[in-house]
Amino acid sequence: MLHDGAVTGMAGLVFAAPPTISLAVAGQEERFPVRRIFCVGRNYADHAREMGHDPEAEPPFFFTKPADAVVASGSVIAYPSATADLHHEAELVVAIGRGGFMVSEREAEALIWGHAAGNDLTRRDLQAAAKAARRPWDMAKGFDRSAVIGAIRPGPIDSSAVIRCSVNGTMRQEARLSDMIWSVPSILAHLSRLVALHPGDLVMTGTPAGVGPIAQGQSCTVTIDGLEPATVRVT
Ligand code: MN
Repeated sequence: MLHDGAVTGMAGLVFAAPPTISLAVAGQEERFPVRRIFCVGRNYADHAREMGHDPEAEPPFFFTKPADAVVASGSVIAYPSATADLHHEAELVVAIGRGGFMVSEREAEALIWGHAAGNDLTRRDLQAAAKAARRPWDMAKGFDRSAVIGAIRPGPIDSSAVIRCSVNGTMRQEARLSDMIWSVPSILAHLSRLVALHPGDLVMTGTPAGVGPIAQGQSCTVTIDGLEPATVRVT
């Protein structure tokens, strides 16, 4: 039993349950229900170096955002509270359609439902303070409206696809998905040893070099060849 005593069963709820967060699906009307959002840290060697780390030295590590941090592409958001250094991080998002626990890299492919372009918005100043104090990253990464995600495209993606991020039309990040240190199957295999994956889970797979600020009034667009863009404007 997945949730043991934590499901409602026949009992009522003391107030209405929150709505299911969902994302648009490219080419069809039905939407993808979001369960959890897992994010990979430092998955491109040049970004690991720009953040002061040795890309060869570490296995993948994970942090999370709540599902209701999701922002649909095309949204306008207020500049987040508690930061003066909001950063963009262009990322491939993997959408999980089938659950799995302790899966091998070979088995991991079968868990994937589709892919999307995403932007792991980050309060870089809070992250730097958390790192310095050896504290958790939650408030630097998992704040409201911190996960900008485009429509999900079902099926596989070509690892030679290029991922790009631009701010007000100026290119800030550009890399190939094949530049990832840990491949998507490897990420899913590692993650599934830590938690059981379930349909609706999203995995943001890390960002290449070139992260930087988004100022008030600017628009930020993440594109990945073959996928819908993920755009947000900050006011
Ligand atoms: Mn990231």
